[in-house]
Amino acid sequence: MKLETLQPSGAFKLRGAANAVSQLSDDAKKRGVICCSTGNHGTALAYAARQMGVPATVCVSQLVPQVKVKAIEAQGARVVQKGNSQDDAQLEADRLVAKEGLTDIPPFDHFDVVTGQATIGLELMRDNPELECLLVPLSGGGLTAGIAIAAKAIKPSIRIVGISMDRGAAMAESLRAGKPVEVIEVPSLADSLGGGIGLNNQHTFDVCQDMLDEVILLTEAEIYRGMQALFAHDRLIAEGASAVGHAAVLAGKVMLTGPTATIITGRNVDMDQFTNVITGQPIQLGELLVTGA
Ligand SMILES: *Cc1c(COP(=O)(O)O)cnc(C)c1O
Repeated sequence: MKLETLQPSGAFKLRGAANAVSQLSDDAKKRGVICCSTGNHGTALAYAARQMGVPATVCVSQLVPQVKVKAIEAQGARVVQKGNSQDDAQLEADRLVAKEGLTDIPPFDHFDVVTGQATIGLELMRDNPELECLLVPLSGGGLTAGIAIAAKAIKPSIRIVGISMDRGAAMAESLRAGKPVEVIEVPSLADSLGGGIGLNNQHTFDVCQDMLDEVILLTEAEIYRGMQALFAHDRLIAEGASAVGHAAVLAGKVMLTGPTATIITGRNVDMDQFTNVITGQPIQLGELLVTGA
């Protein structure tokens, strides 16, 4: 297990955000950065910006849990909450870029962000050259693309498995369609895996198409059991997106053929929801009722 839950912002996204902010000109740093995020990238950008004395603004949709909004504000960033999708929040970010001269640092489709996430692959392969398979939670694909590029450069035979939920998985749908497509966003236990990949995707779609060996989709009930297992067996407080590797193994959807690592991507879970999951209470996700049974 690669425990990105231990990052100060609570998720791996600090790697990409910190790398991207550090590459900016002094002038751009002075004007400030902005992003549109389901939460963890926003928290990461706010944290990285504050460390470097750069003002940060974060645009999020109304679907984003309040616990994540509070976490971003606690990092000293301005939060603007608008609309019911990532796309609505992005429109607001675009407006503020034009109006205030901010630099948009997107959550995944950006060279410096992918490069930052790639350090996970580098660390994993340096520390554990025997690894044969990496289980990677997959959303916009910045994490997967970075890890795949780094890990395959070191060990070309490494198998990269991307894992998403079976409803509203934009990269999985896009890979099947052979081009970036839009999906309908629905509430998920793996809320950090929601959102589109951008119809005008520049980087992550191509890398995922070239380098991803397999994509696995999970039901919400399977993710629920993954979260329970991470807590029961490993005493880890992790969000649904972090539990998909365990969930895929438990569900028998991934064949383990050798030493395997799974990325425990973040800990920023709503604690009421987490408590309900680990005590086996039903969870309402929009129209879907998920039970432990
Ligand atoms: C962003 C995120 C992911 C997915 O990363 P992508 O680069 O969008 O594929 C997985 N888990 C957590 C906790 C995240 O915040």
